[in-house]
Amino acid sequence: MSQENNTHKTLSQAELYDLAKEIKQWGKDLGFQAVGITDTDLTIAEQRFNDWISKKMHGDMDYMSRHGSKRTRPAELETGTMSIISVRMDYFPEDPELAISLLEQQQKGYIARYSLGRDYHKVVRKRLQTLAKKLEHKIGSFGYRVFTDSAPVLEKPLAEKAGIGWIGKHSNVLQEKTGSWFFLGEIFTNLPLPIDSPAINHCGSCTKCISACPTQAIVKPYVVDSRLCISYLTIEAHHSIPEELRPLMGNRIYGCDDCQLFCPWNRFSQQTVETDYFARGDLASPDLVALFLWTESEFLSHTEGTAIRRIGHESWLRNIAVALGNCLANNSGLSIKEDDDIIKALKFRQQHPSELVIEHVSWALKQQVKK
Ligand code: SF4
Repeated sequence: MSQENNTHKTLSQAELYDLAKEIKQWGKDLGFQAVGITDTDLTIAEQRFNDWISKKMHGDMDYMSRHGSKRTRPAELETGTMSIISVRMDYFPEDPELAISLLEQQQKGYIARYSLGRDYHKVVRKRLQTLAKKLEHKIGSFGYRVFTDSAPVLEKPLAEKAGIGWIGKHSNVLQEKTGSWFFLGEIFTNLPLPIDSPAINHCGSCTKCISACPTQAIVKPYVVDSRLCISYLTIEAHHSIPEELRPLMGNRIYGCDDCQLFCPWNRFSQQTVETDYFARGDLASPDLVALFLWTESEFLSHTEGTAIRRIGHESWLRNIAVALGNCLANNSGLSIKEDDDIIKALKFRQQHPSELVIEHVSWALKQQVKK
């Protein structure tokens, strides 16, 4: 964060207070449902994060440990950072009951609801830039940098400190009026803005997310072992999925929402007003066999502009092979034709050049034998 271009005058406490109020209003006008401000002290979060890393619960996500204390000390990531504006943008595209019912439809693929529409990185980042420009227009140039899940930033603890919501036992941020279906973003600034009160935790004695997790990845309250988490296995990991976890994945082919779907606070969530986050094509309720037969270029065109595209066709096929194997293993509702279609599709993919795909396809075909 360059200090050289600072032209804003030194602001009094009263002016900073008024400015913070304006920032929150501008943020809401730009489509953020909440805006909070915090300082850079993440001492408690740093201890938890380092403990999590030391237990290797980040799996293969080397980028989590690569940046040393820059992730937990914002002023080391961006020199001169004094306060952080944290924002929330809601994304849930439909009724949560529809998402829950999809988990029971074994021939359909379940895709995490955040990724059905336009890639949130682009949407949130653009709005944050606009917010920062408004601020610049008001006070003159100042030091800032915007983030949305794009750099080593501990965005959840920052959001909690800024009063956006508390970190639940599932490790997502949630809020008592609207639940947890939202994206976060931040503007690091070199302005000494007044900070907000942290959010208060309302999880109480509830453990619904812990028991709902298909792979028991929430190993204790507030601690998720990524190596067991379906979101990690289907999106972040590029290796073979451990066989003992495959039957537990059901039809979840890109991410997993169970810990959020069954959280009582999400009863109050509203459908997003952002049409960008509405499902593209038939991604909300897609047929597994059809997805599995997409060529690489069809995969790229159907997922263009979404976050799904990032995993690539090979991981996409790996994930769907697991879901099809689970379909064969629990096929009580399948007709003979449906059963045949799945087997034909799997056999077709036995010719795929990727060893990873072939191994998962072989596993899936073996599930049929277990009938
Ligand atoms: S399901 Fe219960 S424990 Fe988990 S985040 Fe929601 S309120 Fe907290």
